[in-house]
Amino acid sequence: MKKTLLLLATAASLLLTSCQPKAPKVAPAIPQDPDIERQVETTLQKMTLEEKIGQMTELVLDLCTGRDSVTGEVTIDEARLTELIRRYKVGSFLNQVQGESPTPAQWQRIQETVQRISMQELGIPCIYGLDQNHGTTYTAGGTLFPQNINMGATFNRDLVYQACEICAYETRACSVPWTYNPTIDLSRNPCWPRVWENFGEDCYVNAEMGSAAVRGFQGPDPNHIDEMHIAACLKHYMAYGVPVSGKDRTPASVGVSELREKHFAPFKAAVEAGALSIMVNSGSNNGLPFHANREILTGWLKEGLNWDGMIVTDWADINNLYTRDHVAADKKAAIVMAINAGIDMAMEPYNPDFCDLLKEAVDEGLVPMSRIDDATRRVLRLKYRLGLFEHPTQDSQRYVEFASGHAADVSREAAIESMVLLKNDTLSHYVQGAAATMLPLQPGQRILLCGPNANSMRTLHGGWSYTWQGSHAERYETGYQTIYQALCQQLGSDRVTLCEGVSYNNEGKYYEEQEPRIQQAVQAAARADVIVCCIGENSYAETPGNLSDLTLSPNQRDLVKALAKTGKPIVLVLGEGRPRIIADIEPLAQAIVSIMIPGNYGGEALAQLLTGEANFSGRLPYTYPLEVHSLITYDYKPCQETATMAGAYDYNAVADVQWPFGYGLSYTTFAYSNLRASAEHFRDGDNLTFTVDVQNTGSRVGKEAVLLFSSDLVATSTPDIRRLRQFTKVELQPGETQTVTLSLPARDLAYVDYDGNWILEAGDFRIQVGNQVVSVTCDETYRY
Ligand code: BGC
Repeated sequence: MKKTLLLLATAASLLLTSCQPKAPKVAPAIPQDPDIERQVETTLQKMTLEEKIGQMTELVLDLCTGRDSVTGEVTIDEARLTELIRRYKVGSFLNQVQGESPTPAQWQRIQETVQRISMQELGIPCIYGLDQNHGTTYTAGGTLFPQNINMGATFNRDLVYQACEICAYETRACSVPWTYNPTIDLSRNPCWPRVWENFGEDCYVNAEMGSAAVRGFQGPDPNHIDEMHIAACLKHYMAYGVPVSGKDRTPASVGVSELREKHFAPFKAAVEAGALSIMVNSGSNNGLPFHANREILTGWLKEGLNWDGMIVTDWADINNLYTRDHVAADKKAAIVMAINAGIDMAMEPYNPDFCDLLKEAVDEGLVPMSRIDDATRRVLRLKYRLGLFEHPTQDSQRYVEFASGHAADVSREAAIESMVLLKNDTLSHYVQGAAATMLPLQPGQRILLCGPNANSMRTLHGGWSYTWQGSHAERYETGYQTIYQALCQQLGSDRVTLCEGVSYNNEGKYYEEQEPRIQQAVQAAARADVIVCCIGENSYAETPGNLSDLTLSPNQRDLVKALAKTGKPIVLVLGEGRPRIIADIEPLAQAIVSIMIPGNYGGEALAQLLTGEANFSGRLPYTYPLEVHSLITYDYKPCQETATMAGAYDYNAVADVQWPFGYGLSYTTFAYSNLRASAEHFRDGDNLTFTVDVQNTGSRVGKEAVLLFSSDLVATSTPDIRRLRQFTKVELQPGETQTVTLSLPARDLAYVDYDGNWILEAGDFRIQVGNQVVSVTCDETYRY
């Protein structure tokens, strides 16, 4: 023990100098408001060390709640809450209470109690945080949107902005000012159980959607968040989505060039969009836990971006430094490590001894006072920016637009735009003179609806919905339609027969299924013209969602195989949080739709799409794998897919996938022509503009996501085969042509070299939009 403390003291004395703020190299990410800064300093000057440490502490409210013995309603144990705030000066609480999702009025009462005691005891308001990961997740009646993976599939920034603005409004209606979202990890390992929580595998999509989310949550001015908006918290900083094992919270092994070029990119963009706080990745990279990584937390983020926001840990992650990762011998050593690395607030979340231990560490000179002041300033700044000193709570009655019809429309529209048509076979007969396709369903067809997702709300809204795992949420789910209910409404219940054949065990683990009844479904197929089979995953969140085989469950695949033997055409509907491998049943289906986790309006959205009332426009936000051991992302290296080699030995590499990133069909067709570049040659500082004509060549109105990819043909580090650089979405009437303009700064074509430095190299770049290709040339090499 003594040895540890001695080492820590030496480390701290080294850090004393390195913790001093360095002269900023770049303009502030958020230009400060001098009035707010004055208020922060005035408050800080009056605070004791204990009070400062209290501001750096976040606990779960469950520590001081109970239940009314008569009504069963959650109650606050005011004596315990007062003790926590008086004794430990705790400045932040989080989470839903006792696994409940209260109404806005109940939330308001809870928050009023917390704020009254905080103001009485400290004169500083509490900042309360909730995981509003895909809408107003922890409030009865709140609007849930499709999960972020679906929002990525829309390729529509405006839908993300609108959803987050509505969520901010509904969250403030609960007097809660802070959410741990947007999640902008890159889900580049399809086994990872949190694939569905972010916008997919690509860094540009996550950067763009993350920035839109920040603007939606926070409104136009990050210095003055009004009472209709809340503070965003980007998470999980960074490289969380590439655990080598595929399991949650297990180590990553990412090199510095990929870390900076891809994983850092969405955080940089969203910080520049004004994000006020960031949560750290619970895991480690190349042996160093992110919570102990000073270079990444203080160096890249606070100093590198000149960002004055606040960094919070993830759940118990300071404890994890000694209990799980064994990089610290005890809790005090872990605290010293994390705070000196740049953590401003500890999501402890259960044990206030953090406060005592941090105080001891400061008294012993292990953590410099300058670091404590810096962290406290960041927490206070966030509270001032949120206007919490003036308005610690809001009157929920003022929020008359809570769960409005408009909010439901945005959620429904997002669900429609997120669903991806992956396969739609042309049939041998004709409808109205045109070759018929399997979808849309034809009038009069009798449908057999099968599969465990066919009549389940839980699989539509997924995890982080009323409850952490999304399970046992029945009492909050009223008024929404499952796929079965929505199809009955759309087609008439006489045309739809439900026979699941396979169902989940909703009382067990997410992957547990009931004894299958496949023969029942096969028999029911005799009376149907089309089988719609809704397969996938039950809801889960975080580590409980770990898997050991990416292939879809054997029962569900057996169900599809048995149904295929009936000879009836099959439409597969994939409702899943990550792309489960379906290679053996894909050929058995005539149409396939990926709905991922589309939210409470997903049943209605799917019914509209299957019947042709609405048109598909979603595109895959990740690469859909074909084989368990061929996992790859769209931006692979050239050597991963090569032509046959000449000579005696053939070393060709193959990267087969089920469907590529960006793939998605429509009921109409689009033709691309005339791709042009504003200039053939460019230099650093130029803006590159490309135009392309997109025509709707089919007979239905449709939306098209127009994606621009670049390929650096020769580079010092082997380049990515292609990279998404820009996207937009257009709606076209049948026959209509639009000239679409896509612009990007030339610097976006730079990459990070082997040594971790940005470089834009002279040479040719291939630009592709649809099937159109144009070449542009960079005339000089630039290093940044
Ligand atoms: C999750 C975070 C979440 C936090 C607070 C953690 O377990 O990793 O995403 O924000 O809990 O609920």
